[in-house]
Amino acid sequence: MRIVIVGGVAAGMSAASRARRFSKDAEIVVLDRGEWVSYGACGLPYVLGGDVDDFESLVARTPAQMRARGIGVHLNTEVTGIDAAARTLTVRDGAAGRTTTEPYDRLLIATGVSPVRPEWAVTDLGGVHVLKDIPDGQAIQASLEGAKRACIVGGGYIGLELAENFRARGLSVVMLEKGPDIAGRVLDHDFQRRVREVVEQQGVDVRCGTTVTGLTGRGGRVTGVQTDDGRVRADVVVVAVGVKPNVALAKAAGARIGKTGAVAVNARQETTVDGIYAAGDNTEATHRVTRRKAHIPLGLTANRMGRVAGVNMAGGDATFPGILGTGIFKVFELGVARTGLTQADADALGLKAHSVDVSSTDHASYYADARPIHVRLTAERGTGRLLGTQIVAHNHHSAKRVDVVAAFLQQRATVQDLFDSDLSYAPPFSSVWDVLLVAADRLH
Ligand code: FAD
Repeated sequence: MRIVIVGGVAAGMSAASRARRFSKDAEIVVLDRGEWVSYGACGLPYVLGGDVDDFESLVARTPAQMRARGIGVHLNTEVTGIDAAARTLTVRDGAAGRTTTEPYDRLLIATGVSPVRPEWAVTDLGGVHVLKDIPDGQAIQASLEGAKRACIVGGGYIGLELAENFRARGLSVVMLEKGPDIAGRVLDHDFQRRVREVVEQQGVDVRCGTTVTGLTGRGGRVTGVQTDDGRVRADVVVVAVGVKPNVALAKAAGARIGKTGAVAVNARQETTVDGIYAAGDNTEATHRVTRRKAHIPLGLTANRMGRVAGVNMAGGDATFPGILGTGIFKVFELGVARTGLTQADADALGLKAHSVDVSSTDHASYYADARPIHVRLTAERGTGRLLGTQIVAHNHHSAKRVDVVAAFLQQRATVQDLFDSDLSYAPPFSSVWDVLLVAADRLH
């Protein structure tokens, strides 16, 4: 049995490790077109800001460690074609400069996503970047040497994490966002405002409703960003305007691509082509609240999908439970979290939903350092079924609450169930009636 895995980061390496544990006999080979595998891309902004020492620290297991566990790892090795009938791959060895044909019995496509690069961002000018992987991080690091002004295009979570880390290095930062506000894909509009206030207080010049039209440069380096509202001077530009799933290989193999644009799989992570599996950021999943397909590329989802695929490819039987889109990010002193649906999501789906907003303190107001916490809880009218929450609070205080709601969503629980829950309490951690319980009380 020869198991071949294309892509060696979160989904691919989880699959390889799991398959290795499950089957002692299978040959397991990971092919990646890059130079780095098995690392946490989520830590990239913190290397740039200095909270994480270096890019090497992000590596979970080196290729040598993987090989010692009986997993073949080939870097600089790009899969350019799949013959599903013959069960072979066309593989280009970047170092040797030759193309070969590799057989497989089971194949996992774990090729992730690529950052969207608008036409104006396709350029030879130095200092213009995206942030997806370690080489991107290294290139930004090099551009930051001697830089004073950064321009971040896109106000999503990666752009916001970068804004904080660039400010930590003393750069002036302008954030350009085409939409009406930042964090638009994560939060409802009124909650976006709370994030923007803090980001602006920290010195980031946020310009929403601004469309980038081009770049300016001199001597091969970027000097600014041209917008429909004038020019922004910049020594470094990072384009963080979204991602698209890498589905070309799956498509070429004849696998179905879902309406979300990501690879369609069943609960065993099998594509529609026999012997071919898909997992991670390139793959869609069933949303546990809506029961519809969704594409929400996140780290735990990729790892979990990879695990499931690994077990099944090695002859076992595992199923992926679905997603809630639970996410959290840090921007300056804020932890911004959401799980399930926002009110806007529910409205777009035509669900009869209503929300309540509660602002309080993150722990007993008489105990030191109590800070504001804002919670929006959303439920279905009539049934009281919980649909989701959004939380903006000081640092980790949003983490506990979002995870509580995620656990309830998974059970398809009601607002009453949440209100009845026996949560922890002591003054340094929460109020006796935690903000979540207050929100549940007001909503049912
Ligand atoms: P990837 O990590 O994209 O790996 C795919 C691999 O496939 C790549 O190494 C690529 O080289 C290889 N590949 C692609 N095509 C081929 C081919 N044809 N042949 C050979 N190899 C190929 N998620 C969170 O949940 N929380 C966070 O805080 C968070 N922060 C993030 C911050 C940043 C800056 C970034 C970029 C991502 C962040 N994420 C976060 C997302 C998280 O990193 C991804 O969900 C996760 O890396 C997905 O793993 P994956 O294995 O599916 O894909």
